[in-house]
Amino acid sequence: MPSRLVRPRVELKGIPVSPGIVIGRAYLVDRRKVKPPEQIIEPEQVEGEISRFHAAIEESRDQLLAVKKHYEANNVGDYGYLVDVNLLMLKDNMLVKETERIIKDELHSADWALWQVIGKIKELFGGIDDEYFSDRQNDIDHLGERILRNLVGLRVKMIKDISEDVIVVAHDLSPMDTAQMDVKMVKGFVTDLGGRTSHTAILARALGIPATVGLEHVTDVVTGGDQMILDGISGTIIINPTGEEVTLYRERDKQYKEFLKELDSYSGLPARTLDGVNIKVCANVELIEEIKTIKRYGAEGIGLYRTEFLYLNRDELPTEEEHYETYLKFAEAVAPERLTIRTLDLGGDKVAHSVPLEEEANPALGLRSIRLCLKEPEIFKTQLRGILRAGVKKNIRVMFPMVSGVWELNQALALLEEAKAELRERGDIFNDDMDVGVMIEVPSAALMADKICEKVDFLSIGTNDLIQYALAIDRVNEHVAYLYEPLHPAVLRLIKISADAARSAGIPIAVCGEMAGDELYTLILLGLGIEELSMHSVSIPKIKRVLSLASMEEAREISAEVLKMATATEVHDFVEDHLKQKFPGLLDPLQ
Ligand code: PEP
Ligand code: MG
Repeated sequence: MPSRLVRPRVELKGIPVSPGIVIGRAYLVDRRKVKPPEQIIEPEQVEGEISRFHAAIEESRDQLLAVKKHYEANNVGDYGYLVDVNLLMLKDNMLVKETERIIKDELHSADWALWQVIGKIKELFGGIDDEYFSDRQNDIDHLGERILRNLVGLRVKMIKDISEDVIVVAHDLSPMDTAQMDVKMVKGFVTDLGGRTSHTAILARALGIPATVGLEHVTDVVTGGDQMILDGISGTIIINPTGEEVTLYRERDKQYKEFLKELDSYSGLPARTLDGVNIKVCANVELIEEIKTIKRYGAEGIGLYRTEFLYLNRDELPTEEEHYETYLKFAEAVAPERLTIRTLDLGGDKVAHSVPLEEEANPALGLRSIRLCLKEPEIFKTQLRGILRAGVKKNIRVMFPMVSGVWELNQALALLEEAKAELRERGDIFNDDMDVGVMIEVPSAALMADKICEKVDFLSIGTNDLIQYALAIDRVNEHVAYLYEPLHPAVLRLIKISADAARSAGIPIAVCGEMAGDELYTLILLGLGIEELSMHSVSIPKIKRVLSLASMEEAREISAEVLKMATATEVHDFVEDHLKQKFPGLLDPLQ
């Protein structure tokens, strides 16, 4: 039976990653390598589904032609004919006509119709006792997957065309999918996979889209069009809720919006502790659209610009000119405050078509970030030249991500010098004296922070990765999300080592990971010696509020106390009790 007919009420609990409450219709995007769900469509959707199918065929053809060109250009054996077989199959009458027929006559979605046809063709090939034809079974499988992936991709793009509030339901969403979302239409999203500090989650917070991830089986129980409640504060999802539940959550939404309005009033507060210590509170940005919100929330500049988002959702690399112009725009928007540009940090959960990345068994431990830049010096230097040129604005500084030690830092610094030499040769104006920093994201870098400090002007701790690498848990894997503990004593010790090294060297140190934007951690970070916090703009008011209520002395006492503890739970309970007792209502009142 088509799943549309079964609409039971289901409640699920996932990992809340972006706060807010949404009530809307589910829009199912299945990114898995399995059969698509059976979905019935309305007669008026037939035309749209058929043209979506044809667009996916066209996209598949373009991709195959590009693969063929690549084979030919690189003399990669005689593989071109394999692509020709795929290209021929794309024109196959049965594939095209039968899929159209199922969409039209049986009123099924293009994905489901295609999958049925692929199955039939495979059966036909399988029935012939010949090696050639059994090989074609594999080909049709791969081709089917390619078209299906394109179909799903097109659907993600088509989200813009939806004219009612939708909640996107997906097995997984890449940061690229999320960056493409039109916030006017996509009111929230939920996924089977993911963790709190995946870049998809980070982007959801940046865009203000409520989201819950790590639901494991949400795509199995939701049918497109189901009514859904998404509570991105608690992580609760209710599919086909009762009328009372809808009323209850509308009320909760109202309360949450009032809470946000109250928080907004703290945007203009100085970022200063009760005993008068100034803390720099900056913004993290990914997308050019965020320029508008930086000042609104009272940020003192940008502490982390994740430039890899310039490389996503496109086929060609950004040019030096594009780097230059983009950085200039951000620098002007925050002047006289500072813009901290983090160089390209691809790999892990961020993949760009224009940068050659092979599939790896352990992407988080593989050729990512600065490692990739050192392997692709031309890509890296193009960006560095853009940064150096924009640096004539003087309020720009640059930092390298995922440095694991001094050797790697030396390589990056040498390429920075090469980029300068190239600009000098060209007679271009640039900032020869730009501040250079290193992100502390790998435990080895934290342990070597004293040596790193000798070579740079500032440090910034990327706690998202530091936690991932210190505790050996994949930050995007929902199965180990319970082990992702920012307050693990090992993490706190690594932060302290880094902060002590920066203080001895007389250079500033910031935290720009997600810990910086959570008021539960603020006093501990301050007490450990952190002087600057960089977070998504929306978090700034609540962090300013906690700063205005507590003293530095109190922060030092708390951190000294927690450094004696053995487990994250002990630290968590201690700091939560402290905040609840001293500042009732400080932590989100809706939790
Ligand atoms: C971090 O790792 O904490 C960080 C700020 O960088 P990203 O989240 O982009 O990896
Ligand atoms: Mg990082």
